[in-house]
Amino acid sequence: MLPEEGSLWLLRLLRDIQLAQFYRPILEDLNVTRPEHFDFVRPEDLDGIGMGRPAQRRLTEALKRHRSGFRSRNWVYKILGGFASDQKETTPPLDSPPYPWEPEGGLKCLIPEGAVCRGELLGSGCFGVVHRGLWTLPSGQSVPVAIKSLRVGPAGPVGTEQGDFLREVSVMMNLEHPHVLRLHGLVLGQPLQMVMELAPLGSLHARLTAAAPTPPLPVALLCLFLRQLAGAMAYMGARGLVHRDLATRNLLLATPRTIKVADFGLVRPLRGARGRYVMGGPRPIPYAWCAPESLRHGAFSSASDVWMFGVTLWEMFSQGQEPWAGVPPYLILQRLEKDRARLPRPSLCSRALYALALRCWAPHPADRPGFSYLEGLLQEAWPPESRCMRDVAEPGALRMEPGDPITIIDGSPDSTTWKGQNGRTLKVGSFPASAVTLVDLGGSSATHSVHRDSPARGERLRGSLDGDRAKAKLQGLPPERGQRRTAPLQRTKGISKSLESVLSLGPRVTGGGSSPPELRHTRAVPQGPPTLPPHPPFVSSSSSQPSQLPRERPPWPKRESPHSHPIGKAGASKATVSPGGSLSDSELQRKILEVELCVHGVTYQECQAALRATGGDVVSAIQNLKVDQLFHLSSRSRADCRHILEHYQWDLSAASRYVLARP
Ligand code: AMP
Repeated sequence: MLPEEGSLWLLRLLRDIQLAQFYRPILEDLNVTRPEHFDFVRPEDLDGIGMGRPAQRRLTEALKRHRSGFRSRNWVYKILGGFASDQKETTPPLDSPPYPWEPEGGLKCLIPEGAVCRGELLGSGCFGVVHRGLWTLPSGQSVPVAIKSLRVGPAGPVGTEQGDFLREVSVMMNLEHPHVLRLHGLVLGQPLQMVMELAPLGSLHARLTAAAPTPPLPVALLCLFLRQLAGAMAYMGARGLVHRDLATRNLLLATPRTIKVADFGLVRPLRGARGRYVMGGPRPIPYAWCAPESLRHGAFSSASDVWMFGVTLWEMFSQGQEPWAGVPPYLILQRLEKDRARLPRPSLCSRALYALALRCWAPHPADRPGFSYLEGLLQEAWPPESRCMRDVAEPGALRMEPGDPITIIDGSPDSTTWKGQNGRTLKVGSFPASAVTLVDLGGSSATHSVHRDSPARGERLRGSLDGDRAKAKLQGLPPERGQRRTAPLQRTKGISKSLESVLSLGPRVTGGGSSPPELRHTRAVPQGPPTLPPHPPFVSSSSSQPSQLPRERPPWPKRESPHSHPIGKAGASKATVSPGGSLSDSELQRKILEVELCVHGVTYQECQAALRATGGDVVSAIQNLKVDQLFHLSSRSRADCRHILEHYQWDLSAASRYVLARP
C-alpha cells in the first residue's frame, strides 16, 4: 500500500509508535489528514476504530512531539515493521523457496527507538555509554531498563567498536540465566543501542568501594555472590563461551542479594579439542586479572576464567582493592611465573576460601577446578556461622551482644581466639571462641539475612566446637601457600585499572617469542572476529569475508554513493526513465517516496541517488539500498548481503536479525 503523499506524516507518526494499523481507519473513518484535525478527535472516536486507551495515550504523546517539531530520523521504525500486517514491503518475486533461517534463539527483540527513552547516565564502558531508561512495550506498559549506546565519533562509529558492540549483542541474545544480565533487545538506530535488564544497584565494585556510611558487605553475602558467579560461569562454559573479563566491575547488583554477570564485549567462543580461544592480535585485556597463559600466549579458556574468578574473589574480600596495584603490568607475568607470587590473603577472607582461590591460580590450567566443581568447593569453604552467647566488650575484641550472628572468618579448635564478622554491626575482629555457639543455618535461630543463603543446613551445633562439620571447617586448613612468597607490593594509584592496554606502559618483556602478542606491539589493533556460528550455506566461501569486521560506516548515516551499486535484477522493474532522462518532477517525487517508505533508514537524497543510479527503476533502487543497509550492519560482502536478502525475500528486518546473530 502506498500512502497518499499528503498524509505521509500520519503514516510515519503512527509507525513510530507501532500503530500503523490505524493509518487507514484514521484517514478514512475519521477523515484526519492534517495534525490539527486531531483537535476534533475524541477518545470515543478512537475507541470506535478499535484503538485502546494505552495506544491513545501514545498517540497523544506522539502528536505533541510532532507538533513541537520532533521527528525521528531513525530507520529502526521501518525495520520493525511499523507497517500494519497488511502493508507488505515491495518485494520482487522470488524463485527460491522461503527458508526457515531464523537464527537459533533469534534476536530477542528489535525495539523501535521511539519505544525507549533514556534517562540518567549510569556509566561508560569500552565502546559505549550506559543510561538508565524506560522501555514502553506495545501494550503501553513501561519497563525500567539500561540502555547501552554505541559510542559514535565525529566520523561515525569506529569499526572495531561497532564490531565489539554487535558481538556483545550476538552473545547476549543467546544467554538466559538468572545470574547473567539479560538483553531485552536492540535498537537499530543511530547510534545502535542495546536495551538490557536494569541492575538498579550498579556494579559490585562500586558497592565494595562505597565510602562510609555505606556499611561493608557481609562475608556470607560475598560467598553467596561467589556461588551465583560460579553458577553463571558454569553456564557460560557449558555454552562454549569464555568471558575473559571477569571482575567485580562487571558484576552488577540486580537486588541487594543478586549479582548478574555483565559486559560481554570480550566474550569469545571456545574452539578445538583444548577448548581455547587464542587472541588473533593485540587487544587491550585486563592484565591484573589474567591467567599466565593469557598474558604469555593470549590463550583463554574456561580455566583462565577460573583464574579470573579467583582474582574476583580476592577483589570481593579486599573490598574492591585493585589486584597487583603498583606492579607495572609488564611485571605481573614475571611475578606470577618466575616468583610464583600470588595475591595475598585479604583480611576478610577465610583460609578455606583463600585455599580455594589458590587452586584457581594453579599455574597449569588443567590443575584448576572447573566452575561446576567450584560450586561444590565453595560449599565446603563456606564460613561457619555462630551466635554470640554473652556480651563481649573487652578492649581490642570484636564487640558483640548475646544473639548477634557471627560469621567465623578464622578459627581453629586449638585456638581460644577467633576472628569473625558481627552480622549486626558488620564489624570484623577477634573475640574469645568461648563467646559463641556454632549454629547451623537450617535451624530456626538463623534469623539474620546473611544466613539465609548459607548452604550449611541441618542440626544446630551446641558448644563452641561441637559438630563434625563445623569442626572440619575449622580444621586442617591448607597453609597459605604463595602468601609467604608474595613480595609486598607497592601500591600506586591509577595503574592497570581494568581493560587497559599494557602496551604503552613500561619496558617490553624480553625473551624472544615467548612474550604475549600484546607485548610485541606498541599499539592495540583490532583482532579478527570470533568464529561464531557458520555462515549460511548459501554464501559461497569466495564471496564471504569471514575475517572482516563490520566496516566503518562513513559519517553516519552517509553511505557510499549508490552510483557505485551493481544494478539489481529487478524483474518487476518499472524503468520508465534513464539517468538524467525525462522523469517528471512529480513522478520522481512519487518514486522517491516509494523507495523511502520501503527501505529502512534511508534519506531522501539517498533514494534520489539510488533512483538515478538505476535509471528510475524503483525495485532495483530499493534492493540496492537494502543491500547497503545490511552491508553497513554486518561483516559481510555486498554479494553476501544480497544473497541473504534474497533468501529472506528482501525482508531487511529478518536479514538484519540473521547477520546480527552471526557477526
Ligand atoms: P559496560 O560498558 O558494560 O562496562 O558498562 C559500563 C558501566 O555502566 C558499568 O560499570 C555499570 O556501572 C553501568 N551499567 C552497565 N550495564 C548496566 C545495567 N544493565 N544496569 C545498571 N548499570 C549498568
